[in-house]
Amino acid sequence: MMKTALITGAGIGIGRASALAFGAAGYRVIVTDILAEEGASAVKEITDAGGTAEFHHLDVTSTENANQIVASIEKAYGAIDTIVCNAGIAHKVPLEEMTDEKWDFTFDVDLKGMFRVIRPALAQMKNAGSGSIICLSSCMGVMYGWDEHVHYSAAKAGVVGLVRGLANELARDGIKVNGVAPGYIRTAQLLSEKHSLGEEGAQKAGAFIPMGRIGQPDDIADVILFLASDKARYLTGQVISVDGGLGVGRY
Ligand code: NAP
Repeated sequence: MMKTALITGAGIGIGRASALAFGAAGYRVIVTDILAEEGASAVKEITDAGGTAEFHHLDVTSTENANQIVASIEKAYGAIDTIVCNAGIAHKVPLEEMTDEKWDFTFDVDLKGMFRVIRPALAQMKNAGSGSIICLSSCMGVMYGWDEHVHYSAAKAGVVGLVRGLANELARDGIKVNGVAPGYIRTAQLLSEKHSLGEEGAQKAGAFIPMGRIGQPDDIADVILFLASDKARYLTGQVISVDGGLGVGRY
């Protein structure tokens, strides 16, 4: 039977690359995002290549939206097999400008937004006795502290705790929970001049990363696909750095 993978923030970047990878691997891909046009174009790319996909608007800051999308997917196809919690924001906010609202918004998208999508899917996954959940952390959550992005670093470190806690509570139900901590990956988030490295910074990073380049979205997508697969059947509670040697190379 065709497996179902739900991916958040799947219109662009790492989420889109993951959607394409799952599509090519024969999954029914539930492409979700707040970006409707990009989501529809990801679906078209998957179906044009012979895969199966559909787009649903899903804003991970809305519990109602998350509950409703999960329920409708389950009604149509049964238990969701894989959830990729990918949607994330990385806003640059110096400490002197860090309000409660800015802090909470980043946590709402980057951390609670993951739990919101996972929670309604668990009952059916438990019934099925199987499932895999993959959450996107960051090198800035597992390894580095990112100045002017303290809320982001804290939320991405929180993803590690989320993965470990869920992995323990769900292991006996046959559900594995893992994370991926990307290094520097060429996406809109990284290329933002305002909030991240920008093009020039990306090129500089390519020079000091041991593998000699920043990553591409599909460098991450392939690891996510592996974690979802039965090849990773004895692997749970881990957050794997995928960074071209960034973490072990800067000393
Ligand atoms: P991206 O290109 O900015 O894509 C993220 C997607 O999530 C976008 O479509 C974005 O829409 C969407 N999104 C934002 N808020 C949302 C919400 N409330 N509900 C649903 N979707 C929402 O980012 P990316 O670089 O592919 O990153 C994907 C994940 O990897 C993120 O969790 C990110 O923090 C993590 N990561 C990325 C890197 C990197 O170097 N790129 C490194 C480490 C970790 P908008 O464009 O409208 O915001």
